[in-house]
Amino acid sequence: DDPAKSAYYPEMKRILRNVFRLDSFRPKQLEAITAALSGRDVLVLVPTGGGKSLCFQLPALCRSGSTKGMTVVIGPLIALMEDQINALRAKNIDVIAFHRAEIPDEDVSSGYRKLRSQNGSSCLLYITPERLQMSSTLRSILDDLYQSQQLARFVVDEAHCIAKWGREFRPAYSNLSCLREKYPTVPIMALTATATTNVQKDLVSILGMRNPVRVTDSFNRPNLFYDVRDKVKNVWGEIANFINTKHRGHTGIIYCQSRDRTEEMAKVLRDQYGISAKHYHAKLDSRDKTKVQNEWQRGICKVVVATIAFGMGIDKPDVRFVIHSDVPSSLDSYYQETGRAGRDGKPSDCLMFFSFSGMHIIFRRIREGDGDEEFKDHQEDEYRRVLEYGSNNVECRRAQVLSYFGQNFDPRDCNKQCDNCCDTSSEVYEEDMTSSAKDVLALAHNMTKTTIVNKTLLTKVYRGSKAKDSIMFQNQPHYGAGQKLPVTQVERLINHLFARGYFELVAYGSHDKFTHSKLVVTRRAAGFPGKDEKLIMLFKRPRKNGAPISERR
Ligand code: ADP
Repeated sequence: DDPAKSAYYPEMKRILRNVFRLDSFRPKQLEAITAALSGRDVLVLVPTGGGKSLCFQLPALCRSGSTKGMTVVIGPLIALMEDQINALRAKNIDVIAFHRAEIPDEDVSSGYRKLRSQNGSSCLLYITPERLQMSSTLRSILDDLYQSQQLARFVVDEAHCIAKWGREFRPAYSNLSCLREKYPTVPIMALTATATTNVQKDLVSILGMRNPVRVTDSFNRPNLFYDVRDKVKNVWGEIANFINTKHRGHTGIIYCQSRDRTEEMAKVLRDQYGISAKHYHAKLDSRDKTKVQNEWQRGICKVVVATIAFGMGIDKPDVRFVIHSDVPSSLDSYYQETGRAGRDGKPSDCLMFFSFSGMHIIFRRIREGDGDEEFKDHQEDEYRRVLEYGSNNVECRRAQVLSYFGQNFDPRDCNKQCDNCCDTSSEVYEEDMTSSAKDVLALAHNMTKTTIVNKTLLTKVYRGSKAKDSIMFQNQPHYGAGQKLPVTQVERLINHLFARGYFELVAYGSHDKFTHSKLVVTRRAAGFPGKDEKLIMLFKRPRKNGAPISERR
């Protein structure tokens, strides 16, 4: 069905022009709004900047739709809601805001009464899930609207917050299952810019959505350049160099895993490299947080060195680079964090420094953190997905990230906007690594019985190195079994075995658990290879005929 031919279209178009002062709908908006007006549940999966707000703001003003009355918008972020509320009021649209905890119940009920006496109730009500949980006034307003059939729609913004294992889980969101239970006839629209296939399943089931219309846009961000580099000793120097040569004076974000490091790095960037950097993390007091955020937003400070605490709800269009100086905790976070670059559509860089070396620290953090065993296993798997991403120096980065969100991506559409697609000096080939993997696992298993092993040593022994630390293993059955394989191929194989959870790094030594780690073979490895299982991997090798080394921008 062509949405432009629906009965609602003329009114939609009129409101688009007269109220929102826009010329045309984006295709996904048209789909979502038409579905909403016909009374369906709608799940909108559109990347940031795609224009999600219009998908519920416009139908709230339509009278031709199958439902009438108040649109209730539930969102997690007060600041974002405030932006929307102000923008709506500037367009003379009636909005009741019950999002901040300081707004007393009486104000809301009087605002509500006034509105109903004036023009019925065709307007928007903004609330948070916490408020819905706590305020009986709010609940009785909803009951009242429902009884008089004046509840047009529930809108759950940032709906991924509902997924228990998601990155931004908000306990009060789980409570939103009450919407469908208490107000079964009111349609629900859920919107998010990020949802893995699991999260999508979760949110549809928790909200009790009935056969929702799914409006999905590609998560591809064509103007972002994805680059992964091996983490070197002097990462801060490399970061400074990258900024000063490619992005001098540009706005950017650098993400770090630890709070202390944000402060140290910002200082080094300022003092040694003349970059106007400030640090930001959750433990700053709220005045400092606001100050850093404002200065960055206004362009006084160009670079924020931050933990993941920085960024949610921030909408600065001209962020030219996002750097991960440590490996992020999941591909979901990575996508979100890099997604803050280039909202204005201009070319922007996403650079990740990659290494396995912090793995034992992350795993320890997960094990000692909150949650039950199942949750911790899940977090470890999420982290392994990033390890696979970081160590896969062959396949298109976009294809890798998007497949994680259940979207197919043809690498030819990358237009050489990632390090792997850019590397025209190499050619890609495929190889069956099943038996090599078996050998490496068996070798590692034996070596670790008597020796502390790391990746380098394992690689050397497997390739039959004559060095002193390696030759002592020459009587092992698999010593030198990989001598025909190029070293890069063996390294990538071992990395892949880490990413699959067959190898792990664990801390050892009693005095300083954070500095030493050793390789262990996990119990999972015993199951490899399963019946008929093959491990086919892609590798790359230098192209003959002296093709250019690289075409990096
Ligand atoms: P999202 O919530 O998906 O991140 P927003 O709703 O904030 O996106 O919209 C992003 C930007 O796109 C806003 O500046 C908005 O005014 C603009 N926009 C939305 N819809 C349209 C449209 N149909 N035509 C032109 N601009 C639009």
